Amino acid sequence: MDLSTLDPLYDKKVKCPYCHNTFTTKKVRSRFVKPLKVEQDFGPVFKDGEGNNPLLYYVTVCSECGFSFSEDFSNHISQTARNKIQKEISEKMDRVTDFWGKRDFNQAVRAYKLAIYSGQLVQEKHIVFANLCLRLAWLYRSTDNQKEESRFLQLAASEFEKSYIHTDFNPETTPELSILYLIGEINRRLGNYNVAIKYFTAVAEHPDRSRYTKYVNYAREQWQLAAREYREKKE
Ligand SMILES: [Zn+2]
Repeated sequence: MDLSTLDPLYDKKVKCPYCHNTFTTKKVRSRFVKPLKVEQDFGPVFKDGEGNNPLLYYVTVCSECGFSFSEDFSNHISQTARNKIQKEISEKMDRVTDFWGKRDFNQAVRAYKLAIYSGQLVQEKHIVFANLCLRLAWLYRSTDNQKEESRFLQLAASEFEKSYIHTDFNPETTPELSILYLIGEINRRLGNYNVAIKYFTAVAEHPDRSRYTKYVNYAREQWQLAAREYREKKE
């Protein structure tokens, strides 16, 4: 197939978990996803102005009611939450921003914030917020907005911690070690070296460590980096 004529974006058919409207939203074809590198918190780094960045399309916004969600949102919405969505989202829906075509950075940020708000109204799991906040932090990283990147990294770390405490993640798709590792790495990036080292140690000593050696190796490397950064900061 000739890649030069193929549109990197395709229309994915989705169904709104709130109003059940079926519509299409853009996604990036995986063969066009080419990050320059991947950071230690798994954040992909793309070339400046790269339009084929899947982070731009992580959130889906319903074209009918405005409810915004990621793939890991639950399909069950309580009656109390339904009333809140109607009042807080549908009646105030943003009909100006085009969330269904090619997105730019600002449109994507708006979609993330709508999904965080939608998730709060339906009391989504902590892991859902953690994933949204981490991706939004990565998106801010791509524009060198360190203040907003740190703000959403902080929120992601806190949601990952709550997800770990309440075990609200699916261990089949998200091993507990990966969550502990991420809490450590996010805290290292934020300069919270003691917390980072505590979590890296928890990874290295975890009962599942022989099954997930990848995270154990990452944790060892980042433990050393955190210790070095901590010493340099003290000097
Ligand atoms: Zn809807």
